[in-house]
Amino acid sequence: MADPVLATHGISKSFGALKASDDVSIDLRPGEIHAIIGPNGAGKSTLIAQICGTLMPDAGSVHLLGRDVTQQSTRARAKAGLGRTFQISALAMQDTVLQNAVLGALGASGRPWRFLSPALEDADLRARAEAALERVGLQDHAATRTAELSHGQRRQLEVAVALTLEPSVFVMDEPMAGLGSEGSKRLTGFLDELRHEAPILLVEHDMDAVFTLADRISVLVYGKVIASGSIDEIQSDRQVREAYLGE
Ligand code: ADP
Ligand code: MG
Repeated sequence: MADPVLATHGISKSFGALKASDDVSIDLRPGEIHAIIGPNGAGKSTLIAQICGTLMPDAGSVHLLGRDVTQQSTRARAKAGLGRTFQISALAMQDTVLQNAVLGALGASGRPWRFLSPALEDADLRARAEAALERVGLQDHAATRTAELSHGQRRQLEVAVALTLEPSVFVMDEPMAGLGSEGSKRLTGFLDELRHEAPILLVEHDMDAVFTLADRISVLVYGKVIASGSIDEIQSDRQVREAYLGE
């Protein structure tokens, strides 16, 4: 089997007495979508935060493209090829769609921070931003103020911002949240294509999307991976059915 592009080895994280991550080891292989499911409060976002570097694990390590990045900053991990989308939107609502995408491209370029207006004049950054918008189908909304987008369009824009980085690995925290069935279907189709460019660690509550996309599923409950396997294996796992599928 190919080497994992992303892996956690026994990471743990406590908030006071609460163990939000309890010895979590998961990995992601080339071309794959690995879905992480689990009830609210199971520690999915906490796991993502440690992978991306916004939270430091108390124990264990994070490996990206074969390198130990546990001590590296979020920015260094992004530069190394880790793209992400957030459960809670990080978009600048007063800026236009294009401005948000250019900001993403500017961050991804690794150039020293400048104001947005010179960045908008930069042909290279603009081209990157426009290409990303086109890929998610927002090219006709470049001049729209982000606050005026529908919820579904904002989620598309978040993916576009992450794409400006041209990541080699993707981590997504509930990208389908709040999308209607039409929006979920569109994003599901897009992620199905995207996996060939960048494998995806996908935290998702939308089980239709998970069962359509996932090559593997891991189930988190109270910070622990209680099961990991194919869709069939997870659906027939008694512990999972009891703990999560509510049977
Ligand atoms: P999920 O994404 O699976 O819903 P989270 O990772 O957001 O779960 O949260 C896991 C647990 O850790 C929850 O009980 C949550 O309240 C707690 N938690 C998350 N972040 C913090 C924090 N910064 N401080 C204290 N508790 C936190
Ligand atoms: Mg969460």
